Amino acid sequence: MAKIFQATHVGKVRKNNEDALIVIEPETFVVADGMGGASAGEVASQMLVETVRDFLIRVPLPWDEKILAQTIALANENILNLARQNEQYKGMGTTATILSLDGYRAYFAHVGDSRIYLLRNKNFQQITEDHSYVEELVRRGDITAQEARFHPMKNVLTQAVGVIPRLYIDMANFSVEKGDAFLLCTDGLTNMVDDETIAEILMSAEDPAYELIEAALAAGGKDNISVIVAGVD
Ligand code: CA
Repeated sequence: MAKIFQATHVGKVRKNNEDALIVIEPETFVVADGMGGASAGEVASQMLVETVRDFLIRVPLPWDEKILAQTIALANENILNLARQNEQYKGMGTTATILSLDGYRAYFAHVGDSRIYLLRNKNFQQITEDHSYVEELVRRGDITAQEARFHPMKNVLTQAVGVIPRLYIDMANFSVEKGDAFLLCTDGLTNMVDDETIAEILMSAEDPAYELIEAALAAGGKDNISVIVAGVD
C-alpha cells in the first residue's frame, strides 16, 4: 500500500483556487489546473476530477493508461458541452494528470502542464512532458531548459482539456519499485520551487505535501498550489 499525502492552497496572490485534486481508491491520483475567466477555471477542473472518479469506479481494475485516457476524453466532451451551453464558461479548460498504481505497475495519462515526478533511489525525474509552447521550444532546441524556467510565455499551453474536440493524450505504463515516491503537482509548485528542493522535501519531510506547499508559499505563492505524494512501501 502506498502512503499518501495531499494538499492544495490558493497561494498568496490569486483570489480563487482553480486547481482540483482527488485521490480515488485504490491508489489513483488526479490533479487538474483550471483556466478561464470568472469562476470558469474552477468549474472545468472540478468537472474533470468528478468525471474521472465517476467513470473509474464503474470500471474493473487495473485502470490502465488506455482507461485513464478514456476518462480524459470523456471529461473533454463534458467540459466542451458545458462551455457551449453557457456563455460565461466559454474558453474554460483544465490540465489533467492521472496516475494509477496497481501493485508494482504504474499507469498514467496526461494533458497540459501539471506534472508527475518519480523519486527513485534519490534520483528525481519528471515523468510527464509539458504540453506548453515553451516546452516545444526546448524540444526543438530553440531555448535551454534553464531559459524555459523564467520564459514570459511559460503559461501558454499547446493543449488543454475542454478547449478543442481532439486531444493528444500522453499515456504510458512502467514498473514500480519498493521505495519509489510519486509526486503529482500543478505548476504553482514547480514555478516556485526548484527540483532539488522538492526532492529534498520528499526525502526528509514527515508530511511532504504540507512542506511542499509551505516551500511554494515561502517562495512567493504566485499561483494555486496542489500536490499529491504517494510513497510505495
Ligand atoms: Ca496553475
